[in-house]
Amino acid sequence: MKYDVVVIGAGPGGSLAARTCAEKGLSVLLVEKRQEIGVPVRCAEGIGKKDLQMFVEIDRKFIAAEVVGAKIYAPDGTEITLTEEMAGNEVGYVLERKIFDRHLARLAAKAGADVMVKTTAVGMERTRDGVKVKLRRMGEEFEVECKIVIGADGVESRVAKWAGIDTTLKLDEIESCVQYLMTGIDFDPEYCHFWFGNKIAPGGYVWLFPKGNGSANVGIGVMPALAEKSPKDYLNEFVDNHFPDGKIVEVVAGAVPVKGEIETAVADNVMLVGDAARHADPITGGGIANAMKAGYYAGIVAAESIQKGDYSAKTLRKYDELWKNDFGKDLARKRKLQQKLIKMDDETLNKIMHSLAKCKLEEISVKAIIKEVLKKHPKLLWDLKDLFL
Ligand SMILES: Cc1cc2nc3c(=O)[nH]c(=O)nc-3n(C[C@H](O)[C@H](O)[C@H](O)COP(=O)(O)OP(=O)(O)OC[C@H]3O[C@@H](n4cnc5c(N)ncnc54)[C@H](O)[C@@H]3O)c2cc1C
Repeated sequence: MKYDVVVIGAGPGGSLAARTCAEKGLSVLLVEKRQEIGVPVRCAEGIGKKDLQMFVEIDRKFIAAEVVGAKIYAPDGTEITLTEEMAGNEVGYVLERKIFDRHLARLAAKAGADVMVKTTAVGMERTRDGVKVKLRRMGEEFEVECKIVIGADGVESRVAKWAGIDTTLKLDEIESCVQYLMTGIDFDPEYCHFWFGNKIAPGGYVWLFPKGNGSANVGIGVMPALAEKSPKDYLNEFVDNHFPDGKIVEVVAGAVPVKGEIETAVADNVMLVGDAARHADPITGGGIANAMKAGYYAGIVAAESIQKGDYSAKTLRKYDELWKNDFGKDLARKRKLQQKLIKMDDETLNKIMHSLAKCKLEEISVKAIIKEVLKKHPKLLWDLKDLFL
């Protein structure tokens, strides 16, 4: 079997990459190790409206709920409300990813990509004029030849290792997550909800994302470098305190890379997209939007490189330029901010939230909020000023 491009992993990043390659006239194979695309869901499923609309027509089939903003809770319970625009790239729609991921893969297939499920990439070998990808399907191994491999194989990416791209994660560059789908709980379904505090979720936060019909994704991310117990223990404690009568109908666990901008996501014949390239937001852990953007850019660069007949890292570096110009700086800035935030004690967090609670948030920008906090707590936030002003 021979293709121009093999895309490994059919998450949002891989499906967008495969679709873009196919739309540009390349022959492309999208392989997914799971038997059903999108299942099990390892995600709270939140995404900003603009980000989603960039790549798909909105279809109610894959929208579980729509929210108007976010409510943030300080360690002492102080609440602030953020509009959708200010709440970041995870707030707007709550997806039904089981349907959404499948929809994206279907769009790739419709554009002309071949899709193989229950097919795991188990190795990769560079040849003189391309790459041989070793695949395993139902116990049987076979090889596919291609010119370019797009590694969209998520946080545990093996393609990165095979290609020699350094994406290693230290204990403070990862969020360890557990999530319950819960019913029978009381919350405002118009908002996504976030709880912060070193006792609640060290180095992370607890979220509640409405899923419609009174159900919600209630989950936690903690930083292993700071946590004293497992994320499940922290989440159980939170649920016992806040939703003692709630029923858990689904459990998922997973990890999110919060490393920030990596130096390069390319090697000869290889590009990495999405979680494989550590593209998730270091503050929120949101990675769907950036994965789709990266997939799109990788598809564009694959088409240009194949037209030139040059798949060297030097040529593929154009992909690095595209994703870095789009959201690379944001990843780097958020990583710096995250490094400061994780060092703040609960008292400091409370003080900041008290200041914010007094602002009319709908009327002012993030910059204005930071100025306000700086005015009241200059010492506290002095070292943050360069990140915003
Ligand atoms: C608990 C949790 C909550 C989250 N909540 C949000 C949220 O609310 N909003 C948000 O934007 N992001 C969220 N994220 C992050 C988001 O899920 C990821 O950033 C996003 O899915 C990344 O997309 P991707 O395409 O890069 O990788 P993935 O979606 O992880 O897809 C990778 C795919 O590759 C497949 N694969 C892996 N190895 C192989 C192989 N060897 N061969 C074949 N296939 C392979 C996997 O089976 C998988 O389907 C959350 C993550 C977690 C863990």
